[in-house]
Amino acid sequence: MTKIFVIYTGGTIGMITEPATGVLKPFNFEQIIEHVPELRRMDYELTVHSFNPIIDSSDMTPEIWAFLAKLIEDNYEEHDGFLILHGSDTMAFTASALSFMLDGLSKPVIFTGSQLPISEVRTDAKENFITALEIASAKLEDGRARVPEVCIYFENKLYRANRTFKYNSAKFEAFRSPNYPVLVEAGVHIKYNDAAILKHDRAKLRVHTSVSNNIGVLKLYPGISPEIVDAVLNSDAEAIIMESFGTGNTSTAPWFLDRLRKAIENGKIILDISQCKAGSVEMGRYATSSELKTMGVINGYDMTFEAAVTKLMYLLGRKYPKDRLLRRLSTPIRGEFTKI
Ligand code: ASP
Repeated sequence: MTKIFVIYTGGTIGMITEPATGVLKPFNFEQIIEHVPELRRMDYELTVHSFNPIIDSSDMTPEIWAFLAKLIEDNYEEHDGFLILHGSDTMAFTASALSFMLDGLSKPVIFTGSQLPISEVRTDAKENFITALEIASAKLEDGRARVPEVCIYFENKLYRANRTFKYNSAKFEAFRSPNYPVLVEAGVHIKYNDAAILKHDRAKLRVHTSVSNNIGVLKLYPGISPEIVDAVLNSDAEAIIMESFGTGNTSTAPWFLDRLRKAIENGKIILDISQCKAGSVEMGRYATSSELKTMGVINGYDMTFEAAVTKLMYLLGRKYPKDRLLRRLSTPIRGEFTKI
């Protein structure tokens, strides 16, 4: 029998509308299972860990990411796969963070949730839950897991976690991964895109739970003032994610470039990702980004904001010497970006 470890953290999937107020409130895992009688007909042995209290994912923290990673480590050997029920709002952050924290993963860790509570007639929760379980238990002919990576399953599609972002709060199709192909598509048949799925890592699982939140974000817009740029660049943050335009371009105004240069000289790490949801940073393609390359801004290629945040937190938490950190930041370590 396939053994799946289920972690129920909360989110809409397990909420019920309180009749008096109309507010969505969480209920417990046993009540979830009652709404999925199909589970009794499936050949899985489920071990369940339910958060107490269960939380809306807006209350997620790096400490809880570490707790999840540790829970997976403690139950790793005895289980074939892991399913994490999580609110969709910050699912892409938690799932991206775990993709970095779980080093040498060889079993599936699949996040899912839903847009409508499992108790509602038109819920998307049941299909998400059941198909995610099925994918978490899928094996290759040699008995190893078919999807040995951290993923998000939502509305018929399995995505690499660290390539996703929540793009829609109203549609059942809540997530997108424009820069990386869908790993599995579920219709009448469950179709695996094996070529896109990470290959098995020969290393053993090593879990790194210390992360640092000492990062900042500089989102650019035409007209941004020197005061706002200073507020971010002169903060204590060790690393700053700069959300730039198009293929990684910024203003060429001397006051702006001088400030960036100075921040880097003072030891700040500046990672350039684009405000575009699809496509990649191409430093040096336009004059507006060639100067960035020269001064030592790091190319974030086609990384999502979620992956950039969690990768930096993870790398800073590893306490690498600066040159090693910069090398790891510039190299895909869990398939989180594609170099062009
Ligand atoms: N607010 C909910 C959460 O993220 C939304 C959801 O589950 O989809 O916990």
